[in-house]
Amino acid sequence: MKTQEIMQMAEGSLLHTYNRYPIVLDHGEGVYLYDTDGKKYLDFAAGIAVFGLGYGNEGFNQAVKDQIDKLVHTSNLFYNEPAAKAAAKLTALTGMDRVFFTNSGTEAIEGAIKLARKYAYNKDKKTDHEIIAMKHSFHGRSMGALSVTGNEKYQEPFKPLIGGVQFAEFNNLESVKALVNDRTCAIILEPLQGEGGIYPATEAFIQGVRQICDENDILMICDEIQCGMGRTGSMYCYQQYGIRPDVVTTAKALGNGFPVGAFLCRESCAALVPGDHGSTYGGNPLVCAAANAVLDQFEALNLTDHVKEVGAYLYEKLEELTKEKKTITAHRGMGLMQGLEFSVPLAGIITKAQELGLIIISASGNVIRFVPPLVIEKEHVDEMIAILTQCIE
Ligand SMILES: *Cc1c(COP(=O)(O)O)cnc(C)c1O
Repeated sequence: MKTQEIMQMAEGSLLHTYNRYPIVLDHGEGVYLYDTDGKKYLDFAAGIAVFGLGYGNEGFNQAVKDQIDKLVHTSNLFYNEPAAKAAAKLTALTGMDRVFFTNSGTEAIEGAIKLARKYAYNKDKKTDHEIIAMKHSFHGRSMGALSVTGNEKYQEPFKPLIGGVQFAEFNNLESVKALVNDRTCAIILEPLQGEGGIYPATEAFIQGVRQICDENDILMICDEIQCGMGRTGSMYCYQQYGIRPDVVTTAKALGNGFPVGAFLCRESCAALVPGDHGSTYGGNPLVCAAANAVLDQFEALNLTDHVKEVGAYLYEKLEELTKEKKTITAHRGMGLMQGLEFSVPLAGIITKAQELGLIIISASGNVIRFVPPLVIEKEHVDEMIAILTQCIE
């Protein structure tokens, strides 16, 4: 089919929940994407922080193909080897004890919310527990996840949401303390806010939240769906803050494009028992084979160290650009999750970048969000900077 026909066909039947760019992506190779007209793009979006390994990683592709030929789905009424292995790897990597596999990030958040409520319910048998979430956070689009997402615009038309959610200021410990009471069952935060505009938590904030949770037997939930899986230079971002949460959510890069997420918890708060929660697809052999292959590639390619090195280089280059260009008002981020805040609208810059063969995406607050495949090299950073510089001019 021709490019125009595909776009028209899609617009003719897909629910219009996205304003899509007029590009039909066809295939990928390394850190480059190709559209249906054969045009090549350097990819600094990675399908929104998903394609950690980039495109065409042979070990990953082969593992997935082998699993397709063997068995794709079992339901959770039976065991399967890929899920057992992926769970064991994830607990080892996170310092958590238990894993529940989901099909998306938002479902991982739903599970984490249910776990926190059940944990508190087991203690006092009350049904009025509260969750403290952060302003400018993003946790997903399903009703529970939307309820803890600190964005009034996303929430308003869908009210009433789930009750008992309070919002504190990110990086303001006093604002969290002011909301804590004997009904509080969890505090949820992204160690590095993604969608909200690339805001890293301060060490004092993360450690302070940990302390509040310890003192009050409240569960600390770290949403690592975007900032986890090596993106900031450690397997999970909270690991750079010297703390361990009680619950961790992960997704995006976990399956390198396959729909798999998870919430993990410590044994001490593993409050969900048979009948409390479930998923038909969750943790099926295909997506878990993908997750296993991803985790194997992280080891084989020593990806976290690679991210540290290339991330530092990206940081240096974006700092230089920030100093050079008046329209750039701030630069923030960690590893290969960084953002540039602009004083001008971004639509022109993003479209111009596409014209020049670069894919970049935005985050809230006029921020260009850089979340490339984790396998990106310094030369790709140089190539991106050269194109971006032209776009800004
Ligand atoms: C993307 C994202 C989610 C939602 O994940 P989906 O897979 O889109 O449901 C939740 N939390 C954070 C931090 C995210 O970046």
